[in-house]
Amino acid sequence: PFTTLAPRELLRHQAYINGHWQSATDGRTFAVINPANGETIAEVSDLSAHETEAAIRAAADALPAWRKQTAKQRSQTLQRWFQLIMQNQAELAELLSLEQGKPQSEAMGEIAYGASFIEWFAEEGKRVYGETIPSPLPGRRISTIKQPVGVVAAITPWNFPNAMITRKVAPALAAGCTVVLKPAPETPLSALALAVLAHEAGIPAGVFNIVTGTDAAAIGQVLTQSSTVRKLSFTGSTRIGKLLMQQSAATVKKLSLELGGNAPFIVFDDADLDAAVQGALAAKFRNSGQTCVCANRILVQDGIYDEFAQRLTRAVSELRVGPAIEPASQQGPLINPAAIAKVQAHISDAVSHGAHILTGGEQHALGGLFFQPTVISHVTESMRIAHEETFGPVAPLFRFRDEADAIRLANQTESGLAAYFYSRDIGRIYRVAEALESGMVGINEGLISNEVAPFGGIKQSGLGREGSRYGIEDYLEVKYLCFGGI
Ligand code: ADP
Repeated sequence: PFTTLAPRELLRHQAYINGHWQSATDGRTFAVINPANGETIAEVSDLSAHETEAAIRAAADALPAWRKQTAKQRSQTLQRWFQLIMQNQAELAELLSLEQGKPQSEAMGEIAYGASFIEWFAEEGKRVYGETIPSPLPGRRISTIKQPVGVVAAITPWNFPNAMITRKVAPALAAGCTVVLKPAPETPLSALALAVLAHEAGIPAGVFNIVTGTDAAAIGQVLTQSSTVRKLSFTGSTRIGKLLMQQSAATVKKLSLELGGNAPFIVFDDADLDAAVQGALAAKFRNSGQTCVCANRILVQDGIYDEFAQRLTRAVSELRVGPAIEPASQQGPLINPAAIAKVQAHISDAVSHGAHILTGGEQHALGGLFFQPTVISHVTESMRIAHEETFGPVAPLFRFRDEADAIRLANQTESGLAAYFYSRDIGRIYRVAEALESGMVGINEGLISNEVAPFGGIKQSGLGREGSRYGIEDYLEVKYLCFGGI
């Protein structure tokens, strides 16, 4: 159970560079706010360009020794880190909820989910195999080895303050890379708590560095312009992802980008409706709708539209809204006033174009950043909500006629991260799964993320995959060795 007070040793206020806790050179700090009540949790060091350069140097200096360790040695260190995180799961979850707002059960789940990437990549790091390739010429032998890309920059968002970090840092470290991380300024405390435990686990100084700061543009400039940094892994908005891609062109960095989504959630006439309602609740309202794989558009076939709308509305109206400090809360606050404004703008745009509010639609009686879980019907392609990621607790119901119509609607977006659909017809399941333009598809399932499966998008949702056996490849270079004179 949460205690309301931030846990002691895990709450740090300074950045973490070269194994040391470090303030900003000019002493500046920024406030981390609890979105549930607007109170300041901590004042954290506000670093900028100058300190980012120092962090890159530390990562570069630490690289040769870390790269030289055996995969097994690195694996053992990562295993210790994993165990320490799980031993401190409740405290880490409490800190996470304090700065981010998600309910207790979701925060506990995120810590376990985040840690699972460390355990997974501790194992995968030992399986970075090269190849031998039959030579087309006599007297030659051909083989490949895989090597760490080098110093990695990671930039992460606030919606998963723990897991978005571990799924970049764990494969990087397992591969033998060193990392400079810039966490989101809304949620630096979970990042710093991870560093406390990384230190305790014996991850050497300089291998994992954290630059906290509010001047994201300045920090991002230094990270992208540096020729020492060989790779950038970013999770965040499509707009900033494109900017960082542009900035990385000058030094031709390897890139992993996990950008915005606009996930369709399709319910066909033949679906198990109760399962579809449960799936929609999970896919839409997790983290109060603030995930990049959240269902953004719920497409429902004609024959079951009214029945599905009714059942979903009933389930959504029963969701318990409240602060994480109350164990029964299922929907926390949104992250900031801009998030509330976007949700309101999407609802009022939809309503002004003919949508109906079935439940919710307004700020919650709790005030502040709490918003009522909302369902709207009669939503059409002409509305903003069809084309923009809402990132909030609004389920818009679109209507479609047949399979071709559903696929056309679902793919009518520049995004291609997740998609979901409910059907019991095996032929349809195969056809639709193949036709959907997305990196991930949930079939009769609304929660699809885990460490063993490849997470990532196509189209403008990004580049690369995180988790799974593919996740470590993004931190490795293949080197071809040609042996002559044999
Ligand atoms: P969101 O709207 O979810 O906050 P952003 O893409 O703005 O998404 O933020 C994701 C991460 O990118 C955060 O760590 C943020 O500080 C960082 N960020 C924002 N702008 C820039 C920038 N110009 N350069 C580098 N990082 C940035």
